[in-house]
Amino acid sequence: MARTDDDSWDVTESVGATALAVAMARANETVSETPLFTDPYAQMFLDAAAARGWRPPTGAMAQRIRAIGNYAASRTKWFDEFFLAAGAAGIRQSVILAAGLDARAWRLPWIHDSVVFEIDQPQVLQFKEEVLTSHRVTPKARHVAVPVDLRQDWPKALRDAGFDASEPTAWSVEGLLPYLPADAQDLLFERITELSARDSRIAVEAFTAGFFSEDHLAQRRERIAQMRAEAAEAGDDLPDPERLWFVEDRAHVPDWLNEHCWDVGALPADDLMARYHRSLPADTTEGTMSTEFVEGVLLEK
Ligand code: SAM
Repeated sequence: MARTDDDSWDVTESVGATALAVAMARANETVSETPLFTDPYAQMFLDAAAARGWRPPTGAMAQRIRAIGNYAASRTKWFDEFFLAAGAAGIRQSVILAAGLDARAWRLPWIHDSVVFEIDQPQVLQFKEEVLTSHRVTPKARHVAVPVDLRQDWPKALRDAGFDASEPTAWSVEGLLPYLPADAQDLLFERITELSARDSRIAVEAFTAGFFSEDHLAQRRERIAQMRAEAAEAGDDLPDPERLWFVEDRAHVPDWLNEHCWDVGALPADDLMARYHRSLPADTTEGTMSTEFVEGVLLEK
């Protein structure tokens, strides 16, 4: 089903199910021999979703989640380190945008008096809270769920939930941008900037420049079509990731942030994985991930 400007979803459907795919990757990493992090809650989410009738990806899709496991693990580790460094610098207020089944509020050692706001679709946050509560798991910081669509007036919902714009904030944008239209992405960063006090920090998983160019998209589609054809030959269905995306050319995140008072640096995905001695398997069709990890601090506005 094509995306629409005001669609919504539960955790087992449409964009919501991508949060379960990330939980699968985190559960796989947690039981690996030398995990970069452990997330004991990821498997709880998968079990609870299965109990509600969700069928975990099998065959080609499960294989694909495993193939990009080192990327997903490196990404999780990088955002973990971002929040720990923000805490070490004295930042006590964090906002996780499109939190999905991110369990950082429950698993990271937050500094005293920290508050973690989580924004996502109402049904996704409700599922997460129900699962953790049923397992009697309590957060390690004050946790505030802000159930709202990120294309709506989320700054109002965030302020109503107790967010303090006069305090520096650590913001994370992980696994979100392709699910937003280009103008909603700009608006997202405008709003983050408006809500940020000086010395606020931001961490973003963004696409590299040129990702949405016709040439690059055409090459990528060819590779995906090949993967899907191979899966179909084996009697398997590999969903096309673009069916959930807004495939629109958009601002290059480091440039946008630099032009709006943020002092940012960007690390390509391959360099991030190398930092943790990880890489994509040689037989991964794309060979590389076209993302970069952007980290910034807000200077004077
Ligand atoms: N950031 C989480 C993580 O890394 O574990 C979840 C990533 S998952 C790939 C994408 C998440 O974005 C889903 O939980 C989905 O519900 C959320 N999302 C996408 N578009 C959204 C929107 N317009 N409003 C609120 N949440 C959205």
